[in-house]
Amino acid sequence: MLNPFSLAFLAALAVMFVLRLWLGQRQISHVTAHRAAVPDSFAERIELPAHQKAADYTVTRTRFGRIGLAVEVALLLALTLGGGLQALHNFWSPRLDGLSYGVALIFSVLAISAAIDLPLAYYRQFVIEEKFAFNRMTPRLFLVDLLKQAALSVVIGAPVLLVVLWMMEGMGSLWWFYVWIFWCAFNLLILFLYPTWIAPLFNKFVALEDGDLKARIEALLGRCGFSSSGLFVMDGSKRSSHGNAYFTGFGKNKRIVFFDTLLDRLRPLEVEAVLAHELGHFKHRHVRKRIAMLFALSLGFLALLGQLIDAPWFFTGLGVETQNTALGLLLFFLAGPVFSFLLTPLLSLLSRRDEFEADRYAADKASASDLVGALVKLYEDNAATLTPDPLHSLFYDSHPPAALRIARLQPV
Ligand SMILES: [Zn+2]
Repeated sequence: MLNPFSLAFLAALAVMFVLRLWLGQRQISHVTAHRAAVPDSFAERIELPAHQKAADYTVTRTRFGRIGLAVEVALLLALTLGGGLQALHNFWSPRLDGLSYGVALIFSVLAISAAIDLPLAYYRQFVIEEKFAFNRMTPRLFLVDLLKQAALSVVIGAPVLLVVLWMMEGMGSLWWFYVWIFWCAFNLLILFLYPTWIAPLFNKFVALEDGDLKARIEALLGRCGFSSSGLFVMDGSKRSSHGNAYFTGFGKNKRIVFFDTLLDRLRPLEVEAVLAHELGHFKHRHVRKRIAMLFALSLGFLALLGQLIDAPWFFTGLGVETQNTALGLLLFFLAGPVFSFLLTPLLSLLSRRDEFEADRYAADKASASDLVGALVKLYEDNAATLTPDPLHSLFYDSHPPAALRIARLQPV
């Protein structure tokens, strides 16, 4: 029989499912309704075909997102109330015990969900991205990436999982606090190692060549009082024609990375403005604040897990008759996002606030009109819609809608 927690879980799942479908439908209708004409404020900067390409790209991806959503919900139901996790437990428990049982169980679930996601990812890359001329990947590179990612998750994930399961079982009733400390330390280590050890497994990084651009960037860094361990160009064009620039690492290990696709498209002054925006994130400590917030949230979630793992209703409510550490951890990570989904608009709001702040910094240290020029090109190149549905945008978007961002950069 379904216990009250099953009903709460099903209700939350239904809310998430319907809300995501509804927001997607709103997005499709809104973008379609504005497809016929470039919005007035962009009329001089963007041609109608580019605007329509962005509309079609947005609609295609949003439609395809529904399939992903349906698959995600079906898999979640199959694993929990459908008895999938119980069946996996029944398979592994006579064969392995202790920590190896836990690792096998958790990796089985990860492997199943990766296998189900694979055709969707393939379709996204080789049908949708291909159709809009963004794909630069070959099936061979896709496969190589996949194998590297799988190897990394085993090499890094398995030991981490072993430590976590061992702490959960052996460190008394405050295990969740010790696991939290371990988790934070592990994340900081990955942030530190990522630029020099992990990212080069997937891309080539070469130092930015001397010249006008480099001189400008160094002058900007000087003006902003910023030091980094290097300026790099990444071969983003190996996979996609989408352009970007980012910052990685922290402390002395900071790097500034430009996608080659970005440098190809933007004028040096525009690159400078984009970098000034990224520096704005750094100067306003957005990255640190974000990390601190995620750590605080994970402490809350782990404390909650500390309670749930001793509660029989949590297991039976999600379709599992056996109560153990690995199953509790899995159920928590499967069911948690269904409830925490409602935090999405709050996190999006905070992120959009940071974007405005970084834009103001860029306008101050570089030039607002160059940033506008760069943004318009990036929107066009990435076929990002200029006319998102306001509610969809309010809920999901980490960046403010183009019109709003540009309006704030251009005081009238
Ligand atoms: Zn930003």
